[in-house]
Amino acid sequence: MAHPNASLAAFEQLWQQHHWPELVKAQLSYPDIAPVLEQLAQQPAVTQQVIGQSYLGTPIHRLSIGHGPIVVLAWTQMHGDESTATAAVLDWLQLLAQDHVGDLPKQWQSLLTLHVIPMLNPDGAARGTRENAQAIDINRDAMAQQSPEGRLLADQVKTLTPTLAFNLHDQNPYYAAGQDGEPATIAFLAPAYHPDKHVDAARLKAKQLIACMAQALSYWLPEAVGRYDDTYSERSFGDAIAGLGASTILIESGAHRHDPYRQIARRMNVMALQAGLSAWLSGVYQSYSLADYYAIPDNVSDGYVDVMIHQLTFDDGQHQPFTADVGIVAQDQGYYVDFVGDARGQRGLTEYDGTALTYRQPLKLGAAADELLTLVGGAVLLDRNW
Ligand SMILES: [Zn+2]
Repeated sequence: MAHPNASLAAFEQLWQQHHWPELVKAQLSYPDIAPVLEQLAQQPAVTQQVIGQSYLGTPIHRLSIGHGPIVVLAWTQMHGDESTATAAVLDWLQLLAQDHVGDLPKQWQSLLTLHVIPMLNPDGAARGTRENAQAIDINRDAMAQQSPEGRLLADQVKTLTPTLAFNLHDQNPYYAAGQDGEPATIAFLAPAYHPDKHVDAARLKAKQLIACMAQALSYWLPEAVGRYDDTYSERSFGDAIAGLGASTILIESGAHRHDPYRQIARRMNVMALQAGLSAWLSGVYQSYSLADYYAIPDNVSDGYVDVMIHQLTFDDGQHQPFTADVGIVAQDQGYYVDFVGDARGQRGLTEYDGTALTYRQPLKLGAAADELLTLVGGAVLLDRNW
């Protein structure tokens, strides 16, 4: 079956031809994107500005395209070790700047202004940490604004007053799209702006737009799109910006099987953003309901571990042998035993059947899992950095 939205399907083909191959990496830092920013700055449609510096003095850029009254703001990598959407927004800008605009109206640049801040936290990106160089989580700094990066984002929001805001992150690889779903490659949220989780006009639009974006992705990602928990967090930027009246959308890039560099989430971010922008301009998102939003399955935490070995027999030669499932997680370039027992409800991104195998050593939680992986013949990628 072909994608029901032919123009978005064609846009996906264009992505295949025009995305930045130099950004195919598990983790991006400023030196990776600097040459891409330079090339994008040469596109006549794109204006680029250094809007500030990180705590350690690395420039933070804003790229803009269009000059219309509807203001859209997207930012990425507020958490330094979450770079999937950074590649995505740079791909997206490249496509738009080259006039590959899908089904956007011809005069779209006079209808809206799109601002993108890629890599808000370059210091964290350089160190591979969530936090900035002050060890501050910028996404808990919306109120106190003790980080220059947090102040910068708050200033941009205040000056630009976006009507639509995209807050782009990565989530850990263990989320499932619903209890029995696939790994959640993309998760969406229209964040609450109040502990009571009121839905005002702007938040209603965000939820409708998410329903529309999730529908656009469902062709490529069946059972792999989740809806993130909307517990209110006043220190978080998405919640704070939603409180200012912008329709705010969080997109979390997540795991996909056999995709260690999250290139599927990268591509799906581009498709979601493009579908979202197009629907925002045409108004078609208004035909989606709150029920459509809530029909997106929950983004279930710990639905997965990296490796699950099912029904392995343990026999150390001294004690009673037994059979159990073993969950294994990757951490700091190694694999460790995370769980032993009945793994019902949790699956592995990679799975092995252990029924014909016996492990003959004592087993401890938290211990290195190399011998277990050798036993099942597992050749597992170690180049992931989540
Ligand atoms: Zn994040």
